[in-house]
Amino acid sequence: MVLPVSTKITLGDVTYEQPTGLFINNQFVAAKNGKTLATVNPATEKVITEVHAADKDDVDIAVAAARKAYKTVWKKTPGAERSKLLHKLADLMEEHRATLTAIEAADSGKPRNNNATYDVDECINVFNYYGGWADKIQGKTIMESDDKFAFTRHQPFGVCGQIIPWNYPLAMAAWKIGPAIATGNVIVLKTAEQTPLSMLYFGNLVVKAGFPPGVINIISGYGKDAGAPLASHMDVDKIAFTGSTATGKLIMQMAAASNLKAVTLECGGKSPMLVFDDADFEQAVKWAVFGIMYNQGQVCCATSRLYVQDTIYDKFVKAIKAEVEASTKMGDPFNDEVGHGPQVTDVQQKRVLSYIDAGKKEGATLVTGGEAGSSGNGFYIKPTVFADVKPEMTIVREEIFGPVVVVGKFSTEEEALELANDTIYGLGAAIFTQNITRAHKLANEIDAGTVWINSTNDSDIRIPFGGFKMSGIGSELGEYGLKTYTQVKSVQINLGSRL
Ligand code: NAD
Repeated sequence: MVLPVSTKITLGDVTYEQPTGLFINNQFVAAKNGKTLATVNPATEKVITEVHAADKDDVDIAVAAARKAYKTVWKKTPGAERSKLLHKLADLMEEHRATLTAIEAADSGKPRNNNATYDVDECINVFNYYGGWADKIQGKTIMESDDKFAFTRHQPFGVCGQIIPWNYPLAMAAWKIGPAIATGNVIVLKTAEQTPLSMLYFGNLVVKAGFPPGVINIISGYGKDAGAPLASHMDVDKIAFTGSTATGKLIMQMAAASNLKAVTLECGGKSPMLVFDDADFEQAVKWAVFGIMYNQGQVCCATSRLYVQDTIYDKFVKAIKAEVEASTKMGDPFNDEVGHGPQVTDVQQKRVLSYIDAGKKEGATLVTGGEAGSSGNGFYIKPTVFADVKPEMTIVREEIFGPVVVVGKFSTEEEALELANDTIYGLGAAIFTQNITRAHKLANEIDAGTVWINSTNDSDIRIPFGGFKMSGIGSELGEYGLKTYTQVKSVQINLGSRL
């Protein structure tokens, strides 16, 4: 039997029509070769629904739809019109907030009243922000002499492939769709196979907002079946990827081996947080817990390596334990009080547990947590703190992508810097101190795309976000985020220079 392209679903207090088809040309369509994938609620371990799963044939259809839209309509659509459409999208997300947060809570395990709500807010802000930019994409005039000058045009690439992960199914999409549309590109976006539902529902809003068919296409599917054909496609001009460093390397290889398409990558991290003994102790403890436990630790820039000055180390470890145990209420994502849901899948739960085992075996001291969430169903992990860690331990070196923090010790500023930079990653880093000179010196020296002074994981739509080292290439958000969706053309004008 062929899977229908939509189905009625009830999630908590919301009953709605969930699209399950591939969103191509403003319509939900069946996958060409009948492939499907099932998506599971990580809190109940039950299948929510199946959706159509794209393979190469569907990617070809989506890319052709996008190309046609670009050539026939979108290329000539003025920035002011693109701006209106993005603002409309933001308004529609507000209107559909109840459904979007319910889907996100059920499909990804995000506490609905907390994380899922913040994610919808983030999308609204991103679309409004880039809506503001859409009619302000301008180049420069460069004078060569009285006779000659040039102007630059910041032109869109054309068809952009976008591949996103499961930890922020809506927000990661918004970070990519906002700047791509503002600058005049068309899109084929592939969601993560673990969390396809919210972005399919978002497809409805694309139609309602009035986007021409083919401008934004959204496909569900596995990485190898749908992501790889998109990254390798000869008619895709740019590929933007968020996900693991291992996959990011493959994306770059595929881009190079096909048509040398432009690439931006937002990959993994193992971000350090340094706490000096002159820091506001209580604030440092709170930010440390937020920095690693938010979204069940499934945050690329989570401050997962905590280094504390030896003079306050023991006191800090005790305080972290108390704060983690007091502040993280684990449970059903639909319970308004809950701040800590399940990990996204059983695979992730097992992966995190295997790191916890490695920590215990390699001799780190387990301070709290260290096991799966206790009662009933769901892929829960108790917020976990390891102390007395050594630089060579697996839990210090590798990205766990779960609610697990390691706490190490330093005595001098030089040692703190050495430890902070002792990683293949370079996404974020936090410094807690009241000494302004030390804070700025360290901010200059740490190899990371974002440095927070006296906070962790702060993000803002106006501020660029991207990785150094193996955490990625290029920035998203802010004005810098626009740059990665345009290519610069110089037009040189000769007013009278004669040969
Ligand atoms: P992943 O790399 O396995 O998957 C990410 C996306 O890539 C998914 O859509 C997946 O289907 C697709 N994919 C997988 N294999 C592919 C292939 N061979 N070709 C093309 N596409 C393929 O990552 P994940 O485990 O789902 O996500 C977690 C990772 O994402 C973590 O490492 C995390 O740090 C990173 N992440 C980074 C950021 C950032 O902004 N830097 C944000 C969120 C997540």
